[in-house]
Amino acid sequence: MRPVQKSNKLAEVCYEIRGPVPEKARQMEEEGHKITKLNIGNLAVFGFDPPDEIVHDMMVNLPNAAGYTDSKGMFAPRKAVMHYTQGKKIAGVAIDDIYLGNGASELIVMSMNALLNTGDEVLVPAPDYPLWTAAVSLSGGTPVHYVCDEQQDWYPDIDDMRKKITPNTKAIVVINPNNPTGALYPDEILLQIIELARQHQLIIYADEIYDKVLYDGNEHTSIASLADDILFVTFNGLSKNYRSCGYRAGWMVVSGEKRHAKDYIEGLNMLASMRLCANAPGQFAIQTALGGYQSIQDLVGPGGRLLKQRDLAYQLLTDIPGVTCVKPKAALYMFPRLDPKIYPIADDQQFAYDLLAETKVLIVQGTGFNWIAPDHFRVVFLPNTDDMTEAFGRIARFMESYRKR
Ligand code: PLP
Repeated sequence: MRPVQKSNKLAEVCYEIRGPVPEKARQMEEEGHKITKLNIGNLAVFGFDPPDEIVHDMMVNLPNAAGYTDSKGMFAPRKAVMHYTQGKKIAGVAIDDIYLGNGASELIVMSMNALLNTGDEVLVPAPDYPLWTAAVSLSGGTPVHYVCDEQQDWYPDIDDMRKKITPNTKAIVVINPNNPTGALYPDEILLQIIELARQHQLIIYADEIYDKVLYDGNEHTSIASLADDILFVTFNGLSKNYRSCGYRAGWMVVSGEKRHAKDYIEGLNMLASMRLCANAPGQFAIQTALGGYQSIQDLVGPGGRLLKQRDLAYQLLTDIPGVTCVKPKAALYMFPRLDPKIYPIADDQQFAYDLLAETKVLIVQGTGFNWIAPDHFRVVFLPNTDDMTEAFGRIARFMESYRKR
């Protein structure tokens, strides 16, 4: 029989967060090793429970959730999203502009599939949440990475963004708050991105899935609230703000200059219809979550568990010689830099393998986020303080031995 090969469409697609190093970790677990998984922002497995009211309402609604829904989603949760976008000051959003999905992930891929032809370029941040790069490639487009500047709190380098715009550029992706850096962009930066989009007629895709996971009293601005003469597509969901990633509940909002986007919107509607609908229990959860008690505040505010863990992770990591890090203002991750003079790493995937083999701690190498050099990695700060002290202690001892190699 002929070998069965994967599609050529996948040639440029990669997703290292669940790639070969995690696969190695899985094998080690099968062999009986206990692995500390700092590779995924999966809050529930670290004891961050979803709000009770979401679980309760989903259970109560299960008997009503057995049928297909409207392709874009049920009316009530979409209405809840509409109110949410009003709260974020995104103007002119109607129910029809809102799509519910099986997590934001499904909608991200859908939004790119509906847009791109071969040769179309999309500006994606480096480092990025790698689904974006993968979704652009899978959709036949070309991801072009603009650099975020570590020296400037990981804000997008607007000059680099400008330089990378070509006649083929269709859109700019903005991940704010950012995964993996934990950056939170000020309005001035967002306005500069808008100005570029305005000059070059680009769509802005805004991934705002961490918009409530904010530390130190910071506030988040939806980029779509800052202009109405540009087409925006904004993504959000329950996975992080409501610790419910297993419920696969997300949404996408089309706003701004929609008049010239009728054809694109038709494409989105067609793709939404083809997948029939998002899972109905997740849709019920959206309605409850957005209208309910915003308990994330208890975790990120003064004395909150996530805040404490962020501070501890920052301290433990930056205490390691040659390791520096911009302190995250938001989200669940740290993206520390390893001084190349002290840690001359040629292949950071190998570094991640070695660290896993020696410490049983699973991290993700920086190049897995399309970062430009093998000198960063990403960890989540989700384990409780005892587990984190233990895991980061092992990382520190590994780094010490690495320096002496
Ligand atoms: N966008 C970003 C920036 C993320 O970090 C993640 C998940 O980690 C997602 C989207 C995917 O979210 P969902 O669980 O809603 O598919």
